[in-house]
Amino acid sequence: MSETFSGSFTQQESIPEDAIEAALAVLRSGRLHRYNVAECEAGETALLEQEFAVQIGAKYCLAVASGGYALATSLRAVGVKTGDKVLTNAFTLAPVPGSIASVGAEPVFVEVTEDLTIDLDDLAAKADQAKVLMLSHMRGHLCDMDRLMEVCDAAGIIVIEDCAHTMGASWNGVQSGRHGAVGCYSCQTYKHVNSGEGGLLITDDEEIAARAIMMSGSYMLYGRHLAAPGPEVFERVKYETPNISGRMDNLRAAILRPQLSDLETQVQRWNDRYREVENGLRGTPGLTVVERPAQEVYVGSSIQFLLMDWSEEAVREAVRRCAARGVELKWFGTAEPVAFTSRYDSWRYAETPRLPQSDRILAGIIDMRVPLTFSVEDCAQIARIIRAEVSAVYQSA
Ligand SMILES: *Cc1c(COP(=O)(O)O)cnc(C)c1O
Repeated sequence: MSETFSGSFTQQESIPEDAIEAALAVLRSGRLHRYNVAECEAGETALLEQEFAVQIGAKYCLAVASGGYALATSLRAVGVKTGDKVLTNAFTLAPVPGSIASVGAEPVFVEVTEDLTIDLDDLAAKADQAKVLMLSHMRGHLCDMDRLMEVCDAAGIIVIEDCAHTMGASWNGVQSGRHGAVGCYSCQTYKHVNSGEGGLLITDDEEIAARAIMMSGSYMLYGRHLAAPGPEVFERVKYETPNISGRMDNLRAAILRPQLSDLETQVQRWNDRYREVENGLRGTPGLTVVERPAQEVYVGSSIQFLLMDWSEEAVREAVRRCAARGVELKWFGTAEPVAFTSRYDSWRYAETPRLPQSDRILAGIIDMRVPLTFSVEDCAQIARIIRAEVSAVYQSA
């Protein structure tokens, strides 16, 4: 009898008890709107911003309604206008090119490497095409950030980091989100902290911070922010910055604060699970493990491997056989977009030439979530199942 896995790949952990208590206190107060605070009360949202800014080492922080909202707000705050071009990864998730389209700009896709990071040679070759790079650390893979910043600084390119999968990660000792001008995070259920929906934006640039705060819908209440620049900066931007409401509320902020203080522990737990799967997969015939560079501290909330140059039928067969044994894999390369699949040519509002290198890699990327509700033993079992099924398909092909 072959073993079958019975866990759910989409079941996250419950919200910690102290976060539930904090949420109940907000509900009992009735003051859910971030600017609805009692006298001498800072409010959960302002406190969340202050704490996250300290945690990440940024001067300013703004909490917003979603990660995608943080991305679009960053683009507007750095001055991207209708018709501008914005460089971005060919391998990313739909909200990234979507944020570019939402401000009327056009994505210029940069190829992906076999390490699943942005191709820095292709980026250098395209550096004269745009003034902004929306860099997506897709699935938590960090490129050589030192070299990336050299390329972008030399070309005068402003970097916005999409850290939806890298909250808690770092490159060469510098936290993800701290290399570029702006870092954006998502607090959606499937990311590293869970408030259902939500986003965070950090920056050291006072004007970017003031514009983002004005845009998020602060009316003229920016004085209630604890991780914001001084009123003189708002004086310079407040009449020219449109309100595009997308605030976070005190209920979500209350749920997030205890989770953020637990982040480091959670990262360790994710990585214990990730390494168990990775070690179990290493050496499987036909399967390439994505090796992680020594400079990278990653958060293993999902794992990817490559079935390079496999036929479409063989990939489908491997995914089908794993699913029959309870292991849910996503093939990012499928031609028709399904759920979270991530092919640049599915985003037809952004006409783009073919990217042959990315086509080859995307055709082989398999993705699997690693929720913390799995035990390390679960992860060992999952790896055994994938190893057996992938080997069987590879050897019969
Ligand atoms: C989830 C995600 C986002 C956006 O986050 P939302 O909070 O869902 O808007 C951005 N980029 C990537 C790579 C993501 O996975």
